[in-house]
Amino acid sequence: MDQKAMNEYLDQWLRDAHAMEEQATTMLTTQASRIEHYPELKQKMEQHIRETESQRDRLEACLTRRGTSPSGAKDIAAKFTAMGQGLSGTVMGDEVVKGAMASYTFEHFEISAYRELIGAADIVGDHETKRVCEEILKEEQAMADWLYEQLPVVSRTFLERAGSDAAEAKR
Ligand code: MG
Ligand code: FE
Repeated sequence: MDQKAMNEYLDQWLRDAHAMEEQATTMLTTQASRIEHYPELKQKMEQHIRETESQRDRLEACLTRRGTSPSGAKDIAAKFTAMGQGLSGTVMGDEVVKGAMASYTFEHFEISAYRELIGAADIVGDHETKRVCEEILKEEQAMADWLYEQLPVVSRTFLERAGSDAAEAKR
């Protein structure tokens, strides 16, 4: 493939990543609003929302520097509808558990996107884009690692709370 075609793919993949971060902000915001009984998780989600907004801005800066721009809102909605359904759909009482699972999965989707972008930026010689993607990758990996540790805590907390709610109802 010639350099021009390679660069077009890189632009497209950067736009995909930008759309992915927009979707991540929506998903995290929805989740954070539903987990008031899980302060540690809520705080981490809110921190990652701010990180995610910064990731989106850093990607936008890469696109601008490369002489292009993010895709429109329509593309974003179409691409990530399926991915977002795991979180935005109405779920029963265990939504915090399902949400934490979906978040862990989504972080790995993001990790795969940045690993792919690093290779593409490398082959076209865009060192700044590569550096940005490596930086964001570390943040996604840190979030995935945190969620990995937190998942059994979330399910245990949910079950304990469900128990106390049931006991309260009996009184
Ligand atoms: Mg992200
Ligand atoms: Fe993330």
